[in-house]
Amino acid sequence: MEPNGKFVGAARMNHTILIGIILLPVSLAAAADDIRANPDRMEQNIRALSAFGANADGGVDRLAFGAADLAGRAYIMDLMREAGLSVRLDTAGNIIGRREGIEPDLPVIMFGSHIDSVPGGGNYDGDVGVIGAIEVIQLMQDNGIRTRHPLEIVSFTDEEGGLIGSRAMIGDVDDRTLSVVSHSGMTIGAGISAVGGDPNRLDLAERQPGELKAFIELHIEQGAFLDEENIDIGVVEGIVGIRWWDVTIEGFANHAGTTPMDRRWDAMVSAAEYILAVNRVATGMPGGQVATVGRIHAAPGAPNVIPGEVVLSLEIRDLSAEKIQRVFDEISAAAEGIADDRSTPIRHAEIDVASPPAPTNEQMRRIIAAAADDLGLSFKFMPSGAGHDAQDMTHIAPTGMIFVPSVKGISHSPKEFTSAQDMANGASVLLRTVLAIDGGALE
Ligand SMILES: [Zn+2]
Repeated sequence: MEPNGKFVGAARMNHTILIGIILLPVSLAAAADDIRANPDRMEQNIRALSAFGANADGGVDRLAFGAADLAGRAYIMDLMREAGLSVRLDTAGNIIGRREGIEPDLPVIMFGSHIDSVPGGGNYDGDVGVIGAIEVIQLMQDNGIRTRHPLEIVSFTDEEGGLIGSRAMIGDVDDRTLSVVSHSGMTIGAGISAVGGDPNRLDLAERQPGELKAFIELHIEQGAFLDEENIDIGVVEGIVGIRWWDVTIEGFANHAGTTPMDRRWDAMVSAAEYILAVNRVATGMPGGQVATVGRIHAAPGAPNVIPGEVVLSLEIRDLSAEKIQRVFDEISAAAEGIADDRSTPIRHAEIDVASPPAPTNEQMRRIIAAAADDLGLSFKFMPSGAGHDAQDMTHIAPTGMIFVPSVKGISHSPKEFTSAQDMANGASVLLRTVLAIDGGALE
């Protein structure tokens, strides 16, 4: 055993030296491949951006179209110029920084996110994607990397008010949307003008299928899966679809003191059973589907009257439209049972706000996963429960999305936090993904 063991050991050593010699030139040539984002620089840029709209709680109020948004946008444009990009606004007010490719006629590889926030927002939602995209360009500048494809970094207009910039890019903003009053108090149309766009010529902001080689968005997870499981990178499988219903339960309003318990048609009691059924159905099948009753209204709504009618909300989300339908069908069946048992009819009326699931491109998922793997980062495939500009971009370009951990899953809050190293990991994966696509990985 022993001589044999020694022999194996010696062979291994020789083998290692041999591999070292053979790989040396290769690893030098592959140096560009090993570039990693700079956590300190990203942290510094995130901090600087956080000053625009900073609130007393340590978060930001950088509502789209407001003064803080304008100042933040100016800062982002400066950063883009510093990184060597030529900067323009499209008519939707999207900030676009362009870097020419060696072959200027090739389709554009686009990546980015948004810098507007919700009221009382945090310092990472959207911001990490824009700062990360600029970091990628800065790394290319620092390391003398040129790409075949032109690159465009985008900071989308008014993401939090309804994905306005990306919807304009796919031709999905109409006059009705433009007249909606946004968080800032301005209509979306007036807001687009205020940031330098032209709401009357949104057609010019549209990008056609084929114009973009790919779209990639780096974003914080805004949920707790990566943080809890200690995983570096989420490879997003898609943005979940959402459907909403108004649910009306019909009972009979009567005196709460004189009506005995066995002679009641109590809509509230049926509502209680219905709510439990929703939870049971969504919990009872495998998968990541979620179903929620988030609002309830009982009429007439007095302590001494048996509720004659209850109206509540039902929301179902999943990555698959069929799955959403299946969850709804099971809830419907359960509702029929409750309605029969208690003689309180239950009606579902769907509300017209449905957004269909937006799966990311399968090849893009594999490219992002391989990039994470090559960098020695752990990753998992996961859906996004929140909406993102990327969901619009799936309509016109192969789209991929990279998640980095949100500590404790907190988002849309000043307590939102992502570490500098996690931000840098995301940007490193983004760089590698862009270079892989540029090199032909997406054919
Ligand atoms: Zn966001």
